[in-house]
Amino acid sequence: MRIETQCLREGYTPKNGEPKALPIYQSTTYKYDSSEHIGKLFDLSEAGHIYSRLSNPTVDAVEKKLAALEGGVGALCTTSGQAATLFALLNICSAGDEFISVSEIYGGSVNLFAVQLKRYGITCKFVSAKDDEETIQKAFTSKTKAVFGEMIANPALCVLDVEKFAKIAHKNGVPLIVDNTFATPVLCRPFEWGADIIVHSTSKYMDGHALQIGGVLIDSGNFDWEKYPEKFNGLTTPDDSYHGLVYTKQFGKAAYITKARVQLMRDIGAYPGAMNAFLLNVGLETLALRMERYCQNALAVAQFLQSRPEVEFVNYPALKGSSDYELTQKYLPKGASGVISFSLKGNKQTAVKFIDSLKLAINEVHVADICTCILHPATSTHRQLTPQQLKGAGITEGLVRLSVGLEHIDDILEDLENGFNSIK
Ligand SMILES: *Cc1c(COP(=O)(O)O)cnc(C)c1O
Repeated sequence: MRIETQCLREGYTPKNGEPKALPIYQSTTYKYDSSEHIGKLFDLSEAGHIYSRLSNPTVDAVEKKLAALEGGVGALCTTSGQAATLFALLNICSAGDEFISVSEIYGGSVNLFAVQLKRYGITCKFVSAKDDEETIQKAFTSKTKAVFGEMIANPALCVLDVEKFAKIAHKNGVPLIVDNTFATPVLCRPFEWGADIIVHSTSKYMDGHALQIGGVLIDSGNFDWEKYPEKFNGLTTPDDSYHGLVYTKQFGKAAYITKARVQLMRDIGAYPGAMNAFLLNVGLETLALRMERYCQNALAVAQFLQSRPEVEFVNYPALKGSSDYELTQKYLPKGASGVISFSLKGNKQTAVKFIDSLKLAINEVHVADICTCILHPATSTHRQLTPQQLKGAGITEGLVRLSVGLEHIDDILEDLENGFNSIK
């Protein structure tokens, strides 16, 4: 099946006389014929639902769809994108370990890596997406367990050279984890370029309608954990909490994703409810169609902004002349999603006046919504930063983040035109 068809048809296939729509199994528990059967479920010798902190039939169908969309062996849904990123790392890192992350990533991930995980004794070393291999190599030590990067960085909007990072991760015997939230598998499938693990915030384009917060962790099944048994001993040595089961022996290619569910999710508990999975599935059904239009509208808006004298610069990787234009052609030939940032000449007040004068674009702390939405980072998400820190993060006073939606392009452009008139 092509991706448009997969979005609609993977995961749930009703049999004769069954509901056409994915049923919402709103149940915490499951009924069995015998205690013996329950015992087998707890030994993981038989597959089945035990308790909705670990799995649920509605969520399971959506996980199967998400795994298919990315071309992975399995997926685990989580209650947020943040939880998916946390699980991706905790599944292979423990106190004393290190991992390397590209610094051009989502601000919430920076906090999680630099502040929160540090409290647990896990150290993140940051490198720039633009660093050469020699510089990146210097960040590796014998304790490094993974490399992390973001396909299209939120909010920097630079494109990850997945092949470069996969090559250097593999040379050092560790997996590459990619946050593919903005690109979605419709625009890029990082496993095809060498990534081993993918995480998403499904709260963004996948849901699309701003209805649920969610995340997903997806395993390519390609990383050979047994090649480095000491480094990844959580996967290759007996787990006492399952009577000495060894994940790589019992589950083969699905070792990583199975451990994430039956061990981490069991102990931490961040599994979405059936209703949220149902809502996410409705969004996924039209994902391929929506991504096409987001990209088309955003490119037109980026070109319009570039032509305006009030605009200092425009960041949109698919725009000709953008510093990541070549990477975009390689990894994102269908487009670079709907998110643009641009800087207005002038100061904070100019940007705020422009934003507040818009009638169509919604002032909200979100991106990748079905509706066009807009935000002024310097007075909102990045409000606490000093002028020096703002500069370091590439955030000018006049910077505006615009997430182009699915309204008619002429309505979006007219709205922006009115905004420009208001700051004349
Ligand atoms: C929003 C976002 C996250 C965090 O996801 P939540 O669902 O809000 O927890 C992670 N990565 C990227 C790229 C995001 O845009």
